[in-house]
Amino acid sequence: MKKNLMYEGKGKALYSTDNAGELIQVFKDDATAFDGKKHDVIAGKGQLNCAISTFFFEKLHAANIQTHFIKRESQTEMRIHQLTMMPVEVVIRNIAAGSICRRLGLEEGKILDRPLAELFYKDDALGDPMINTEHCELFGWATADDVRLMRTIAMEVNRVMSQLLEDVGIHLVDFKLEFGKLNDAIVLGDEISPDGCRLWDVETGKKLDKDVFRRDLGGLSEVYHEVATRLGIPI
Ligand code: UDP
Repeated sequence: MKKNLMYEGKGKALYSTDNAGELIQVFKDDATAFDGKKHDVIAGKGQLNCAISTFFFEKLHAANIQTHFIKRESQTEMRIHQLTMMPVEVVIRNIAAGSICRRLGLEEGKILDRPLAELFYKDDALGDPMINTEHCELFGWATADDVRLMRTIAMEVNRVMSQLLEDVGIHLVDFKLEFGKLNDAIVLGDEISPDGCRLWDVETGKKLDKDVFRRDLGGLSEVYHEVATRLGIPI
């Protein structure tokens, strides 16, 4: 059972448990965007993200990719291994959208010749600035070997997720991952939900992710529910 609150972020909270090294990750109904400047509470979002994350973590385990996920505990909670997190966000892009369009003047929707990995320093106050391997090494956030491994794992995650989503008519445009260390191994942490991915319907281009909230395009829980239903995830 949950004991003490260890950490509370915008979309999730972490609690200690009776088992050392195991935490409970709780998915909240809060939705935030623009570094927390936009905020709302969306009933059912926590449950949807917990279910979708559970689905992807289990699929990644089946593909021999190590994650912090142990098991789902309730509709909004999962048991996880406690990791020592690295303050680095790994973004994989298959199609140009969001910040890369603003940064490089690309047209939204441009299909990239191959998946692109980008690194960002996880710091809300700084707006998560883009960084490279040298910054990670110099400032002690991750070694060059850690970065190489994170990129390799992230590309493998991209392969597995893209396939699952394409099979149900959804393009995986881009997504963000966070990694940590468990005894010296690099392990995927955080969550995998439409909060941290861009998902576009293959036929219509309809957005099925947090851009619906960022850009006021309609009901967020409805589109997350659609993603879950298409993937065959019971809610
Ligand atoms: N992303 C995220 N958390 C962040 C920044 C980005 O989950 O703090 C996700 C975002 O949802 C998208 C991908 O990472 O799927 C790439 O985001 P981008 O760099 O384009 O930034 P944005 O347009 O969201 O500002």
